[in-house]
Amino acid sequence: MSQYWSPAVRELTPYVPGEQPREQLVKLNTNENPYPPAPGVGQALRDYATDHLRLYPDPTSAALRKALAETFQVADSQVFVGNGSDEVLAFAFQAFFCHSAPLDVPAISYSFYPVYANLYGIELRTHPLDANWEVDIESLGSAPERSGVIFANPNAPTGHAHSLASIEQLLQRVTDRVVLVDEAYVDFGAESAVTLIERYPNLLVTGTFSKSRSLAGLRLGYAVGSEELINGLQRVKDSFNSYPVDSLASVVGIAALNDTEHFETCREYVITTRERTRQRLESLGFEVLPSKANFVLTRHPDHAGAQLFAGLRERGILVRHFNTPELNDFLRITIGTDDEMDSLIEALQVICA
Ligand code: PMP
Repeated sequence: MSQYWSPAVRELTPYVPGEQPREQLVKLNTNENPYPPAPGVGQALRDYATDHLRLYPDPTSAALRKALAETFQVADSQVFVGNGSDEVLAFAFQAFFCHSAPLDVPAISYSFYPVYANLYGIELRTHPLDANWEVDIESLGSAPERSGVIFANPNAPTGHAHSLASIEQLLQRVTDRVVLVDEAYVDFGAESAVTLIERYPNLLVTGTFSKSRSLAGLRLGYAVGSEELINGLQRVKDSFNSYPVDSLASVVGIAALNDTEHFETCREYVITTRERTRQRLESLGFEVLPSKANFVLTRHPDHAGAQLFAGLRERGILVRHFNTPELNDFLRITIGTDDEMDSLIEALQVICA
């Protein structure tokens, strides 16, 4: 605590990201993609003329938004881009949820949501997950007074995904406020709600290049929604930072979007490895929540989460352990390459023996 901090800063509880270790570890803790970005990304970097760096980037990121619009079959004016989807989410909280009523959010979800809510003074109304650790989508938005609804699909850190039909039912109920679906992990097996934006002007879908496009180090995220929602995000962006997307990031992002084949191949690998890992964990006695994401949430009836985390860390394998009452028993394990998952299973065999 410092005397120089403003009262608002004293009240913050910042998000704590997963560790980025300096030593060589099998890194299965922050849901990065184990496969490299598309080959076109390297080419785009090599072709980039350094002299471009003299100039500010296009403040509207028109070329990148066009490439995303083509990918999602929407108009350019229905796409917003930012410095990682975390930034896009932060803008969305400010643009749409700063009303006097609470924001509806699943009780267990992406832990940045409460941080943004705290930053902007937004009250949260949390909805417990059901007995299967699934978001109770019917309860979201059910109270008459709310500033909006936000949830991740697939959810983090559970990996469960809702069908498009159940998301549409929610949209039929909540028409007066923004419903934000965070699709950071959608490409690993869930259905995207982008196809619903034409019919629901209050639906905002966010996504990222960090996971299925293997570009977490670049910081690129986006939102797709009606023009009026995109304009709302732009108003916040242009009151904060005119140029959140570097010209280099824009060129690289376009190259990644252009390589559909690489994208499809890598996500198939991740999905196949996830299912293989699930079976192998189950054969060691773990309970594994069904996942449509590039991670699994798992626990063992005889071994505490913290103990498993420490045992893996000693053996050079880093996973994520959340020190909260609900998730204390669990580990969240990112799906790596088959070799990395072999190392994980071998280490768990020893720890659980
Ligand atoms: N949403 C969810 C659910 C996430 O898990 C993450 C990654 N931590 C993000 C958004 C943010 O991803 P990025 O800022 O890398 O786009």
